[in-house]
Amino acid sequence: MDKILRIDMGAEGGPKISESGLGDYAGLGGRAITSAVVAKEVPPLCHPLGANNKLVIAPGLMSGTAAAMSGRLSVGCKSPLTGGIKEANSGGQASQVLARLGIAAIILEGQPADDTLYKVTINSEGAQIKPDNSLKTLGNYDVVDKMKEEYGDKIACISIGPAGEMKLSSATIACTDMELRPTRHAGRGGVGAVMGSKGVKVLVLDDAGKSMRAPKDPEKFKEANRTWVAGIKKHPVSGEGMPAYGTNVLTNVINEAGGYPTNNFRFGQFKGADKISGETLAELENARGGEGSATHGCHRGCVIRCSGTFYDKDGNYVTKQPEYETVWAHGANCGIDDLDVIAQLDRLDDDYGIDTIEMGATIAVAMEAGLAEFGDGEAAINFVKEVGKGTDLGRILGNGAAVTGKIFGVERVPVVKGQALPAYDPRVIQGIGVTYATTPMGADHTAGYAVTANVLGVGGNVDPLKPEGQVELSRNLQIITAAVDATGMCIFIAFPALDQPETFQSLIDLINSFHGLNMDADGVAALGKSILKTERDFNKAAGFTAQHDRLPEFFKTEKLSPHNITFAVSDEDLDSLYNW
Ligand code: SF4
Repeated sequence: MDKILRIDMGAEGGPKISESGLGDYAGLGGRAITSAVVAKEVPPLCHPLGANNKLVIAPGLMSGTAAAMSGRLSVGCKSPLTGGIKEANSGGQASQVLARLGIAAIILEGQPADDTLYKVTINSEGAQIKPDNSLKTLGNYDVVDKMKEEYGDKIACISIGPAGEMKLSSATIACTDMELRPTRHAGRGGVGAVMGSKGVKVLVLDDAGKSMRAPKDPEKFKEANRTWVAGIKKHPVSGEGMPAYGTNVLTNVINEAGGYPTNNFRFGQFKGADKISGETLAELENARGGEGSATHGCHRGCVIRCSGTFYDKDGNYVTKQPEYETVWAHGANCGIDDLDVIAQLDRLDDDYGIDTIEMGATIAVAMEAGLAEFGDGEAAINFVKEVGKGTDLGRILGNGAAVTGKIFGVERVPVVKGQALPAYDPRVIQGIGVTYATTPMGADHTAGYAVTANVLGVGGNVDPLKPEGQVELSRNLQIITAAVDATGMCIFIAFPALDQPETFQSLIDLINSFHGLNMDADGVAALGKSILKTERDFNKAAGFTAQHDRLPEFFKTEKLSPHNITFAVSDEDLDSLYNW
């Protein structure tokens, strides 16, 4: 990966593509390069949808190699949802394909002169950009079908749906999976709105004629990959639980722990949890036939394979197996206990290009405002359709929970830095509350997944109900996660890597043998810290202060059943997170 592709959408005479070496960004990948480019090239006070913002799309340092699990794609920009720096990452095939094409980053910059919509094609012969207004208002599924007709089925697509074209703050960027369906999304922070503001509907990638990236030390690399794969397969979570039930294996676990946010974070347990659990989902998928549940990866080289396919009762494809966060956001958080309704919502979200977490949280806020009853699946489906149609109500909802709460006068709005909280209540899983409050990304469970030591007994044990030890736990996880996000590794490798020292070492060995480096665990931590510092400095310059590193007030005043406790980590302790 030795080149950066820049596409200046505001160039004289129409969009211009230029290619350059890595320059200041040499040695960086994934979140490290997206955040470095945004911090260096985007004025922190610029409008996120304006000419000065940039959208950076980057494979990880290990993407395109034979290293297992290395296919996450990072997308960075100034976020229209949070107003701060954003890195959202996605599975699917795009990262591996881009890396094999030798591209370390694509940077979309400038502002188009008019509302023409463009498509970008990138293959071994180079990159082209062409206007294609026939793509206007199409959902992601139709866009991909059209690209398949034009370019064949050996491609990977990165696209936006109508939500991105409308520049809504919960718009995603979709990546196609191994079945060439747009089911994987860089979901958070409205990155799709930034792509929409650049006038780009789809990037079509084709790595025909290119081969896997070659390691500097093939023997050591092979050996490290063997240990790596064996470690992932022997861990009970990554080797058994996730392949059998997908990420939704967590529903019963988090519900039993009393930290499963229900009816807009009103309760910590959901009566209908069993009906939407991973176990029930797997049973339903198996009973309906098709490809069965949880049997494949979202990209080549995944050995955990937490993914599956959801079919309706007549055996017709609906969507990929909905993830735990989606099942929660559209399920318990809206009081809905029907997997068919949740799957329909997931399909609509993927097609319109909307973040399932933000959308679910927004519907729950709308329900709290009295626009519908909790548990009303039909109303939830109609809300999402309003977003897809771009009605006035749809545009409000599509701009997320914070905007919706403000417009309908709701006090209990679960957001940090404008971004909705995911599927773990911070009063009962206090370590994740620290992550929600302090990560530069806005509330984001993946930025420092403290559920590990708080609930799952992975990487140690820290009492989830007490404030002690949570800042240290979240700090260490945020540091390591930032580094892992630079490699392109799927975050689920955290389970074996945190629990099994030899598996963590094999990840370091993979990086070293591939790139000819001599990094140790301290070097990995140093990389993570430097990414976090870059991001935090950007946010500071964009106007963020300690007051933005706080949970909404109601988490400190309203006790959550069944444990009847509030979030108890002090502001002073939160402010110490970056003191390393
Ligand atoms: S574990 Fe799941 S999310 Fe991660 S790469 Fe595999 S299929 Fe994708």
